[in-house]
Amino acid sequence: MLIIMRTSATKADVENVVARVKSFDLDAHLSDGAERTVIGVVGDGRPVEKSLFIRLPGVDNIVPISKSYKLASREFYPKNSLVPIGENRVGNGSAIIIGGPCAVENREQLLEAAQAVKDAGAHALRGGAYKPRTSPYSFQGMGEDGLKLLAEARDLTGLPIVTEIISPELVPLVADYADVLQIGARNMQNYSLLKAAGLTQRTILLKRGMSATISDFLMAAEYILSKGNQNVILCERGIRTFETATRNTTDINAIPVLKSLTHLPVMLDPSHSTGDWRFVSSLARSGIAAGADGLVIEVHPDPANALSDGAQSLKPKRFAELVNQVNIIANAMKAANITALPEG
Ligand code: PEP
Ligand code: MN
Repeated sequence: MLIIMRTSATKADVENVVARVKSFDLDAHLSDGAERTVIGVVGDGRPVEKSLFIRLPGVDNIVPISKSYKLASREFYPKNSLVPIGENRVGNGSAIIIGGPCAVENREQLLEAAQAVKDAGAHALRGGAYKPRTSPYSFQGMGEDGLKLLAEARDLTGLPIVTEIISPELVPLVADYADVLQIGARNMQNYSLLKAAGLTQRTILLKRGMSATISDFLMAAEYILSKGNQNVILCERGIRTFETATRNTTDINAIPVLKSLTHLPVMLDPSHSTGDWRFVSSLARSGIAAGADGLVIEVHPDPANALSDGAQSLKPKRFAELVNQVNIIANAMKAANITALPEG
């Protein structure tokens, strides 16, 4: 439930309510709005009596949260959360673009990709150093050597770094190098990884599991939020359907649906959604038009020889063209005041 404080409530009133919440072994999550503080009370599912809090000084109202995800819900925070990627904030209406190879392969490949991503005007560089591959015989990533190359690419271009975490033990090491930690589709319900990500303050890019419902996806985000990390970005990356013409099916619906259910920013990855570079630009443009806060796009200087996901990677020139097109669409939407929030 949510405890809504009066606009006149003092810091001591808020602290008093938080102490009372904790005295019942419940967690208190503060959301400081410009006008008033809202305290989210989250427990283990036991019913919590409104009467325990309603008469405390400074309390205005108490409302239940109807959804099973609490901290991720728009009921908890009705505005859009702004989540940092380097100097930029995702969720404020500009299209934030993360580009780069599926995997860090070697110094030359990464630095060339990084420069291309920078020159195209994108905002962050991606590249996996630890790769969760479907086959144990596929390239598994360069590990810490890959992280070092990513750090070098950041020094060279100034772009913040997005890279994947695949196990809880690796989180502190990867967080030392990266600005944004990605949790991939295959790990969306790896609960110990979600908890470890929640204990850092790094921005987490959480990708939707390929067979996860929107509710499963939001519950996965809730794991991270409930551990104290509010910097979560959701990323739709295509789901499995009966269709086999493309690697996955882009669930464009998910963009406005998620935006209506949660305050967290929503990005689209059209590369894994389609699996084919020829369709990536079209889906990227659709995602922005549907209200996505940004895009994650695979870019490789030599896709034909990529060690992973070459078939869906854009070459630098096409990526630069796409960034331009996306900016045109995002600016037109801003000018016309179009957002992803459903009408009514
Ligand atoms: C990736 O981003 O390269 C990746 C493995 O993505 P996903 O987890 O969405 O398959
Ligand atoms: Mn990939």
